[in-house]
Amino acid sequence: TVLAVSITMARVIAVANQKGGVGKTTTSINLAACLGVLGEKVLLIDIDPQGNSTSGVGIDKMMIKKTIYNVLVNEEPIEENIIETEYENLYILPSNIQLAGAEVELVPAISREHKLKNAIEGIRDKYDFIIIDCPPSLGLLTLNALTAADTVLVPIQCEYYALEGLGQLLSTISLVQKYLNKSIEVEGVLLTMFDARTNLSMQVVEEVKKHFKSKVYKTIIPRNVRLSEAPSHGKPIISYDSKSKGSEVYMELAKEVLGIE
Ligand code: ADP
Ligand code: MG
Repeated sequence: TVLAVSITMARVIAVANQKGGVGKTTTSINLAACLGVLGEKVLLIDIDPQGNSTSGVGIDKMMIKKTIYNVLVNEEPIEENIIETEYENLYILPSNIQLAGAEVELVPAISREHKLKNAIEGIRDKYDFIIIDCPPSLGLLTLNALTAADTVLVPIQCEYYALEGLGQLLSTISLVQKYLNKSIEVEGVLLTMFDARTNLSMQVVEEVKKHFKSKVYKTIIPRNVRLSEAPSHGKPIISYDSKSKGSEVYMELAKEVLGIE
């Protein structure tokens, strides 16, 4: 027999949509945590100055010294800024409001869009997944995420104007493909905050499926109060209330991402 050495390289998924409040952070935290529970080693990268993914996994964002800012702006080694969370197989590169300055401080930097990609290069073989929670804009921080990513997961809220702004996001992805990261692909479109009682939610689902066809995840995330409560306890839904509907659907999404439905 041949001695085979298999090196796994993390799948890098950016969770992006320049609209705020569509479920980027909720999806990043819970997809990451569920993949962890399923045995995948996951690094969650918080690249939003709001630091909601950071606090959402129980890290006190105002107290920490280790942050993504050190990595992007001061070029500190990424390993020195990653924190192990108390959750299974889940690590985080945290963020806080200090990162807001990076959007401006990086402007004159050489290969400013490649900072994150370069930083994760050396650690891709240490994780199975790297999930990047993007800020609600298409600025330099999101460009760093899209340049570093293999794929983009786009959450869409089942609401009025759900598709508004998506054209802009898709043309940004095309530009990134052309100039910064030619292999980037859309991982999938995730319908969030679905409310079965409203016709509107159903209409959005139909509309989104018409546009994105097979790219739409079979898993649809419903509105679930437990999902909105979990962050204030610093817990992913699977740890906060493993029996909740929110927990069930994000576990289902993680399996769909793994292809083990
Ligand atoms: P984004 O990161 O895109 O700004 P968030 O994930 O922070 O969006 O979600 C916005 C708000 O909606 C948060 O308060 C969050 O707790 C809540 N939320 C997200 N998804 C759900 C859901 N499926 N059911 C109920 N509340 C949700
Ligand atoms: Mg967010």
